[in-house]
Order: sequence, then structure tokens, then C-alpha cells
Amino acid sequence: MADASRPMIKGRFTTCELVKREELTSDLIKFWIKPAQDYTFKPGQYCTIGVDGIERPYSISSSPDEENIELFIEVVPVEHGGHLTPLLDHQKVGAEMTLRPRAKGIFVLQPQYKHHIFVGTVTGVVPYISMLRKFLNDPAWPEPVDGVAREDYTFHVLEGASYDDEFGYDEELNELAAKHNFIKFYPSVSRPNEERNANWTGAKGRINVLVDDYLEKLGVDPKETCVYACGHPQMIEDVGVRMEPTDYNFIEERFWKEDE
Ligand SMILES: Cc1cc2nc3c(=O)[nH]c(=O)nc-3n(C[C@H](O)[C@H](O)[C@H](O)COP(=O)(O)OP(=O)(O)OC[C@H]3O[C@@H](n4cnc5c(N)ncnc54)[C@H](O)[C@@H]3O)c2cc1C
Repeated sequence: MADASRPMIKGRFTTCELVKREELTSDLIKFWIKPAQDYTFKPGQYCTIGVDGIERPYSISSSPDEENIELFIEVVPVEHGGHLTPLLDHQKVGAEMTLRPRAKGIFVLQPQYKHHIFVGTVTGVVPYISMLRKFLNDPAWPEPVDGVAREDYTFHVLEGASYDDEFGYDEELNELAAKHNFIKFYPSVSRPNEERNANWTGAKGRINVLVDDYLEKLGVDPKETCVYACGHPQMIEDVGVRMEPTDYNFIEERFWKEDE
């Protein structure tokens, strides 16, 4: 019997199984889900999952050629207004969740540019992980664009977090950067003086503030460069303002609205 207190999902949906989960901190979890049906997506797109009729979009960090869909989720506690994430936090391996059958989103690689500046806050790094994994896994991706050879591409991940245990993919990104000179990883913590960051020796400050300096040092042609911003709306707003008077191309993906 339907529970009148729970929202009903309208429209087409399928299901997925939680096959693995990993806690990074008390409020950051990684999920690996296995869709019940074939599921296709482009690197950078998001899927929509649900529990008890509550649904939310999540960008996908896995590459489309991986078996499971990988997600990196920040839990918003109930007392801060969270709805789905407190429920996700309680899902055990083997749990079934709903999944909308189609991935969506236009925050995808812009292959017409040579240089890709991926700016993200915490979970905002997710779409870039998918793009990088796909690029490295598939020599035929992206489809060739006139005037840009595959060897021309450079990728720069600029990730900001309050604490150094929140980066989520720092091990993978450090390894990739060590292995490939066309990949750079520049993480920064915004609360360097707090005890939790006692071992941090890297960059300090908000990532949006560091973007200008990074670009200036990099010295690439703005017209051949795309700056992406994903995650916290204030960071995105600020990077957008900084890019406005320049010739850098700019695209964004906001995970939530500031006035929510
Ligand atoms: C295209 C897209 C992709 C997304 N991808 C991801 C992702 O990869 N990982 C991820 O964790 N979230 C992602 N989100 C956010 C996600 O959809 C949910 O909004 C978020 O998980 C909170 O869900 P909730 O139901 O618990 O709270 P909601 O009911 O959605 O929101 C409750 C309150 O929390 C605020 N809020 C939402 N997210 C955060 C946050 N991370 N930090 C602080 N406040 C927040 C909202 O503005 C609102 O005030 C994405 C959103 C969009 C639009």
C-alpha cells in the first residue's frame, strides 16, 4: 500500500543497487551503484537517484567504460535542511534505490579548446574525474576537432576544500599528475590554520581567489582555454566574475542555489 506521507515518483524510472560505499569523513561518502538496466552517459553528466520518493541529481565520477557508476556525495544533515543525503548516508551495500533512466547535463568536455582549467570545491571535482578517466582510457575520445590535436590538450584540476581530508580524489590526481605532464593538480585548503590541516603543506586560500594567479603563471592563450567551475555556488559566482572581463571561455555547474 502506498504511504501517503512519502512523495511518489512520477514518470519513468528504473533502479540501481548500491554495490560499494566508502566513508571519507563524517559527511563525505563515495557510492558505487549498479544500474538494473543499461545506462549510458557522457563524462561530466549527472544521474538522478532516489530513496523513498526523494530524488536528487549527482554528477558521475566514473568513466562510462567502468562497470559501476561512482558518486561522491556530501551529506547535508537534516538540521541544515538535508533531505535525500541523510537517507543515502543510511543505505547499506545491497540496498536498492531508484534511478532515472537517462543521464543529463551539458557540463561536458569542450574539445574545441586546448587547455582545460577544472575548478571545483570538494564534490565539485567529480565531473572532471570522469572526463580525465575517459580521456586516459579511450584514445578515440574526444572526437577530433579541427585545429586541436589530442597531444595539444592540457588539464589543470584546481580543487578547493576547507580541510585536506575532503579532496576525495587527491591520491588519483597526484598519481595522474606525476605520470602525465599534461595533467596538473593544484589543491588548496581554505582553513590552513586549523588543527585538522596540521599536516597540510600545499596551497592555502580559497580556490576562486587563486585562479587568476594560476592562469597568469600558466600563460596560455585565453582564447584556447576553457575555465570550468563546479560545486559551491559562491565559488562559481566569483570565478565567473573574474573571467567576465577576460577572453577565457567559461562554463559552470552549480550543485545548489545560494538562496536555498
Ligand atoms: C547537476 C547537479 C549535480 C550534483 N552533483 C552532486 C555531487 O556530485 N555530489 C553532491 O554531494 N551533490 C551534488 N549535487 C547536489 C545534490 O543534488 C543535492 O542537492 C545534495 O546532495 C543535497 O541533497 P539533500 O536532499 O540532502 O538536500 P536538499 O534538499 O537538496 O538541500 C537542502 C539544503 O542544503 C543545501 N545544499 C545542497 N547541497 C549542499 C552541499 N553540498 N553543501 C551545503 N549545502 C548544500 C541546499 O541549498 C538546501 O538549502 C548536484 C546538484 C546538481 C544540480
